[in-house]
Order: sequence, then C-alpha cells, then structure tokens
Amino acid sequence: MIDYVSTRDTGIRVRSGKAVLDGQASDGGLYVPQSLDDIRTDYHDAIKGGFRDMAKAVWKVFFDDYGADKTDELVEKSYRDKFAAPEITPLAKVRASSGDAYVLELYHGPTSAFKDVALSALPNLLSASREMNGFTDDIMILTATSGDTGSAAIAGFSDVPGTGIIVFYPYGGVSDTQRLQMVTAAGSNVTACAIRGNFDDAQTGVKKLFREIPHPVSGVSLSSANSINIGRLVPQIVYYFSAYAQLLEKGAIKDGDKVDFIVPTGNFGDIMAGYFALMMGLPVGKLVCASNKNDVLTEFLNTGHYNRKREFWKTTSPSMDILVSSNLERLLYYVCGPEHTLSYMKQLEECGEYSVTSSELDEIKSIFEGVCADDSEGAAAIKSVFERDHYLMDTHTSIAWACMEKAGLSDAAATVVLSTASPYKFSAAVLEALGEELTGSDEGNMKRVREITGVPVPAGLAGIFEKPVVHDGVIDTADMKAYVIEKCSE
Ligand SMILES: *Cc1c(COP(=O)(O)O)cnc(C)c1O
Repeated sequence: MIDYVSTRDTGIRVRSGKAVLDGQASDGGLYVPQSLDDIRTDYHDAIKGGFRDMAKAVWKVFFDDYGADKTDELVEKSYRDKFAAPEITPLAKVRASSGDAYVLELYHGPTSAFKDVALSALPNLLSASREMNGFTDDIMILTATSGDTGSAAIAGFSDVPGTGIIVFYPYGGVSDTQRLQMVTAAGSNVTACAIRGNFDDAQTGVKKLFREIPHPVSGVSLSSANSINIGRLVPQIVYYFSAYAQLLEKGAIKDGDKVDFIVPTGNFGDIMAGYFALMMGLPVGKLVCASNKNDVLTEFLNTGHYNRKREFWKTTSPSMDILVSSNLERLLYYVCGPEHTLSYMKQLEECGEYSVTSSELDEIKSIFEGVCADDSEGAAAIKSVFERDHYLMDTHTSIAWACMEKAGLSDAAATVVLSTASPYKFSAAVLEALGEELTGSDEGNMKRVREITGVPVPAGLAGIFEKPVVHDGVIDTADMKAYVIEKCSE
C-alpha cells in the first residue's frame, strides 16, 4: 500500500485516488509516494507486452487503491485508438555525429505533443477517483495555456463523463496552429476562450478564480489539470519502460544494460518520470536535463544554487521557457527530505533563490546532468540531423539533441533523446532552421515543410485549417469569473 505525502510535510497523507483528486497538497507541497521502497519492482514485469501492458504494470504500483481491474480498464480507455502509432511511443534510430542515438517519439497523440500521453490518462483517473471517493459534484477544469497544454487538455477531457474544461489563452499570443487546435475542438464539455492580455494575465486570472470561487457552483467544483498532479506524472513513467523494451527488441542493448536519457525540460515533469522509472528498478544510466537559453536548471544541477531572479528569454522552444520548475520539488523531497524541501521552497518564494547542501548536490549529480543549448544550436541540430539522416526534429527535441552532443555521457549502452512535439507544431521555426524562407502563414509554412522534407503531417494537424471554429469567445480578464460561473451552470 502506498501513502502519498506532501513534499513539505509527511503528516499530510492520502491514498493515490485522493492525491489525483486534490491535485496539490493543502500546504502547497506536491504529493509523492512517501518512500521509494514502495515503488521498487522487478523491471522485467513492466517491459512485457505492448505499451498498454506496461502502463498497466506501472499504474498498478502507483495507483494501488484503484484496484488492478480498475487501472487495467482506465489504461485501455486512455490509450486504445487514441494514438497514431501502434507502439504509442515509438523509438527511431538516428545517426549522431559519433555513433547512433535513439529518438523516443512521444508526439503521436491527438494533438501531436507529448502532453497527450499524460492528458489522455488524467481525466480518466480523475473521473474514477471521483466515483471512488463518493464525490458527487461534477468537475470543471480551468487551465491557462501559452499554447500546447490547452489543446492536449481539451483533447483529454473531451466527453469524459462528470467533467468539463475551460481553457483560457492569450488573444494574439499563441500560434495560429495552436489557436486552431483549441477553437475547432468539438467535445460537448469543452470551451476555449481568448482573454485580452498575455499568458501571465491568463494564469493570474485562473489562480484568482480558484480563490474567488472556493465552493461548488450549481453542483460543479473547480479543479486544475496542471502538471503537478501525480495523475499526470505517473503515466509518463511508462514510456521509459517502453523505450527500454524497444531497445531490447531491436537488439541495441542486452538485458540489464544501462541506458542514458536526454530530456527536453521545462517544468521537470518529464524527467522526474525518468527518475521514478530508475527508482522502480529500470537500468537507467544518466538523466540529462536539457534546457534552452532559460538555463535555471543547468545552473542548479551544476552548482546546487537555484536562482529564478534572471532574465526570461522567449525562445523557439516555448514549452521550455520556464523559470520555476515545479516538479523539481519532488526530487528535493527524496534527496533532501521534507524539512529541507519546505525551507528551500520558502526561500524560493520569499527571496527567489536557494542552495542545496554539497552532499545533496552530490547525490543529485550522481544521476542528473544539466546541459543547455540556445536557439541557434537547436536550429543547427535540426538542419544537420535532417541533412545527415533525413530525420526531422521539432524545436524542443533539437535542444535535447544539441545537449546530447555537448554532454559527457556515461558508459551507457544506448542513448535515448526524448522527442516532445511533432515538427509540424512549430513549422515556422523548423522551416527557418532548414534555411528556408517563411511563407507568411502557419498553413503555408506547414505545407512548405511537407514539400521540402516529405515527412507526413500528423492527421490531427492536417485538417485544422479547414475545420469550423466553434469557440470564438474573447473576453477581458475582469469578466473571467462571470464567464466561468455561466459555463458551470450550463
Ligand atoms: C511541456 C513540454 C516540455 C517540457 O516538459 P516538462 O515536463 O514540463 O519538463 C517539452 N517539450 C514540449 C513540446 C512540451 O510541450
């Protein structure tokens, strides 16, 4: 039996279903399995069969109070017929400047980004937990998005019973592709609405709504789908096992060999899932934390000093443009313990920085390595990999690739780069990286990338320029509250 505790206070203790339902612990900490001993398994049990079998094995460990039959059912619901690749997360062999690397493609879900892996699962976990905990209210998910999360959340919650979702995005602040992915979404329980302001205004507005509407409205209570929910993190552990199984199948490694993973990182969720896979027993060598010009994590992993007081850079890998990586707190819990974690998080809030002790840093460094690359290094990677091997990467994957080329790898038997988005989600930047002129529209850029590379456009993206717009709301932030109350009453 696994107890989930707050990263800041082990006195706050719940079972997994409640942790999913609550999202965040009441003291502001994040829920984690209290002890890593409770998740240790024989990894051979979790690399059998296909992706869904692996998911069942992993979910059984972490979501034990749902019961094995229930988690099996939820895995089927989450992944059957939703992904364009039969392996769900297929592995491609790609030539690097020295030797071969493998790219784990996490973007074959409904919205062509890796957040689909988690957001296909969370709504089902949430919906089941609601029943399990005798929670009779419906749940309305509120999310602010700067692009990718919004469409993945909409796709995930679309038509899930007992739930609804409202996504707020900055008017004029997302790409045309991202906007169309949201405003053409058909589900009867989903809404996308533009707000006049930037992403921060949208996010601040949503946070305010949670404070202003603390109680259910017309039998609907508010919740969030953000990446600190343990129900988003656990589903991501599965693809580390899937990568290992595929490497074995290809004969690239022998059973027991260690594998390095290079992870394009923003909020530290993806790479934290890799840490859990390692702690479950998967033979992982190094976890390389790849950052763009926003290199707060690179500095932290090299010096032990986390300092968010720095310039914020807008890059061509926007989903990694983050100064506070929330999920890092989970790693701190295991390495530094809850007392130090509480103190570090307080220092971060009050002074914008903290430093871990040198022994804590040593422990972190024994597994993690921080490397960063800027836009031009990422663009160069897109071009060189395409020219060498006719393999097309997006702007986030290419940062990870560039970091791999810089990193000092361990003596692992294979290196896997996690690929987090289809290149067609970022057609403009990809086109420029290939040394081509922009066409003036997202639709044109997408077509042009297709012409030049011959790489097929994912089905979910191919049709969006023709689909009817069904969500055309644009409101002021001051009107968000009235908007939400009205939607809850419908
Ligand atoms: C969210 C996202 C990331 C970063 O993942 P984290 O779990 O936040 O570290 C990287 N690439 C893409 C395309 C993303 O959408």
